[in-house]
Amino acid sequence: MKASNTYKNYIGGQWVESKSGATTENRNPANTDEVVGVFQKSTAEDVQAAIDAAAEAYKKWRLVPAPKRGEILYNVAARLVAEKERCAREMTREMGKIIDETRGDVQEAIDMTFYMAGEGRRLFGVTTPSELANKFNMTVRQPLGVCSFITPWNFPMAIPAWKIMPALVCGNTVVIKPATDTPLSVANLMKVMEEEGVPPGVVNMVTGSGGALGDSLIGDDRVRVVSFTGSTEVGRKVSMACAPKFKHSCLEMGGKNVQIVMDDADLGLAVEGALWGAFGTTGQRCTATSRIVCHHDVVDKFISMLAKRAESLNVGNGLEESVQMGPCINQGQLDTVLNYIEIGKKESARLVTGGEKLTGGAYDKGFFVKPTIFAEVTRDMRIWKEEIFGPVLSVTTCSNLDEAIELANDTIYGLSASIYTRDVNKAYTAMRDVYTGIFYVNAPTIGAETHLPFGGVKETGNGHREAATAALDVFSEWKSVYVDFSGALQRAQIDTE
Ligand code: NAD
Repeated sequence: MKASNTYKNYIGGQWVESKSGATTENRNPANTDEVVGVFQKSTAEDVQAAIDAAAEAYKKWRLVPAPKRGEILYNVAARLVAEKERCAREMTREMGKIIDETRGDVQEAIDMTFYMAGEGRRLFGVTTPSELANKFNMTVRQPLGVCSFITPWNFPMAIPAWKIMPALVCGNTVVIKPATDTPLSVANLMKVMEEEGVPPGVVNMVTGSGGALGDSLIGDDRVRVVSFTGSTEVGRKVSMACAPKFKHSCLEMGGKNVQIVMDDADLGLAVEGALWGAFGTTGQRCTATSRIVCHHDVVDKFISMLAKRAESLNVGNGLEESVQMGPCINQGQLDTVLNYIEIGKKESARLVTGGEKLTGGAYDKGFFVKPTIFAEVTRDMRIWKEEIFGPVLSVTTCSNLDEAIELANDTIYGLSASIYTRDVNKAYTAMRDVYTGIFYVNAPTIGAETHLPFGGVKETGNGHREAATAALDVFSEWKSVYVDFSGALQRAQIDTE
């Protein structure tokens, strides 16, 4: 896979250099002196080779019995269990998330792989009566072919696994382009899959920039499914590139997730939820809490409790077990966060805590920013409306549940929301009326489990869901099968007697 710390593309079961001969260096965002790895700067030609390999492998893989495909995935999952700590440590060095969370990321990949291994013995269709005599009706799932995956850096192994495992169990083959900042975690996943018996060409990895490789990953006629997770801006381009040939596109995009805190809430619990939701993964989760709608009777107390907890967070290198929040992923993301902080100040939101880069000592070698809370945020402000993707929380107030729900829905996105209340009527009303793909009661906006559908509404998604059996609908198509054993021509809807 590597000479020293140089990693190659994985194509057709071989680790190969890019035809470009060019590489890029990836550095640890908590310590930019540390080179994590050197990766291939691939070209359209490399993508072409990967699609060739996937198309060739598809001919055989689609015919491998699904339970057998599931058994291979089972071995992959078991191996990931054995490799969990190493993969987690490398992921923290690669993208900065604290070690507890990168263990969670690998665990999510393990959970998804075991789950989809089990689907190898299900992949249920239905049988149903025919309206005609001596005729048998059923549905079966059929794979589509080559799938192209474009993934983000915030869940470097979990998100690739969410896509790869259901695709493979359904009988498809895969080309994946990991985020430029996090190819190492996908290389680790490829290595495990290679060693645990996934046949050559069934999964392929090409590293490089999305801008350079996107067209070839999507445009090739043999690619039938494009699954993308990332920003709404890029997702829109992917969707438009898929449209002319009616390629299936599964898009998981941005969020502006909200936590509602009612006046009857357990405030201590709501504070812990907000802290974890807003500052876990340095606020760089698609489900991160970026807005709080708090009842005005409790808002002062809530903000002072939350600010105290945010100020006590230990920010630093995520490999140290005592650290609670790591750096931003890169200089660009840090600049975006600092820019939004300036925007918030100019918009006259009240800066409660944070609001600046962390400097001095080890902080100067990484992209660290203080956990930041703005209060008195209004719905016309950009920090209320736009995804920041960093540890910046905007708090506004409401006077009742109707207003809270209206504010919660005041966004172009619709991924995750939560409510803290002790009133079951309020909890169920909010569950029904807040328009998102994921909803929590008395829990933060983050914390999805792999056996429930995952995805968002409005400009967060395009109607598909990842995870659970919902993922199978992305990677298979229904074939309705009619078997007439009457020995005579029977005409549906016409021979009604
Ligand atoms: P991004 O859109 O910048 O990049 C995502 C991927 O797209 C990367 O692999 C990138 O190289 C590639 N890409 C970039 N330009 C491209 C182009 N023109 N054509 C094809 N591919 C291209 O997003 P990011 O910064 O990596 O991730 C952060 C974003 O992802 C946030 O908006 C976040 O909300 C979203 N996200 C959503 C979910 C979800 O499930 N809804 C999960 C995680 C992250």
